[in-house]
Amino acid sequence: MRIVLLGPPGAGKGTQAALLARRDGLAHVATGDLFRAHLDRGTELGKQVKSYMDRGALVPDGVTTRMVLERFEEPGAQDGFVLDGFPRTIPQAEALDAALADAGQAIDRALLIEVEREELGRRLAGRWICRGCQTLYHERSAPPAKAGICDACGGELYQRGDDKPEVVSVRLETYEKETGPLAGYYERQGKLARIDGGGAVEAVAKQITSSIGGRVAVAAADVTVE
Ligand code: AMP
Repeated sequence: MRIVLLGPPGAGKGTQAALLARRDGLAHVATGDLFRAHLDRGTELGKQVKSYMDRGALVPDGVTTRMVLERFEEPGAQDGFVLDGFPRTIPQAEALDAALADAGQAIDRALLIEVEREELGRRLAGRWICRGCQTLYHERSAPPAKAGICDACGGELYQRGDDKPEVVSVRLETYEKETGPLAGYYERQGKLARIDGGGAVEAVAKQITSSIGGRVAVAAADVTVE
């Protein structure tokens, strides 16, 4: 199963992608996480993308697409993936489709998680992330057991610089302008499903499960039995 998660910053893509990936044994490929890992390690790519990320702009398509295609070469992604934060532009979506077609593959489903703008602001303002394992927390709706410490790995929690209100408004505008047209792109391919992302994590996960036709792991097991 190859799934694309679309939706504005704060819609819950990261949370839902992590759940789906863990449940169904898919690789979770999050371009924001990959870029932040480069920033933390101080790589050349990290230096190249920092100014775009700091101001809430998109990193150029060529750099981003190359990074994702390299990630596909690593173990784990061949059997299926959830893309979180990629593609974000029509050229990225076209490059992705072309690369998959070369390998005789295709995206199966694009899930657009929709959430009202005021709620997005509230979610981003209270968001904390583990520096070690990228687990997401929220002060109000999903706090860690101990403030500042990750429940999963004991790592340090931090707030993203680009979750500041002034950068968030740039990110939301960029989303509407650059990423919004992807809904039509996948709709024309008959692959788009709209998910109401306004509810609790479990309620959103349920809609996602039904829109991808139940548990992927079960489907894979059935194939093996045959
Ligand atoms: P995210 O964690 O998905 O919100 O991404 C954080 C930042 O990384 C974005 O604001 C962009 O600067 C950059 N980024 C992530 N994914 C992409 C992408 N597909 N295309 C361009 N820039 C991206």
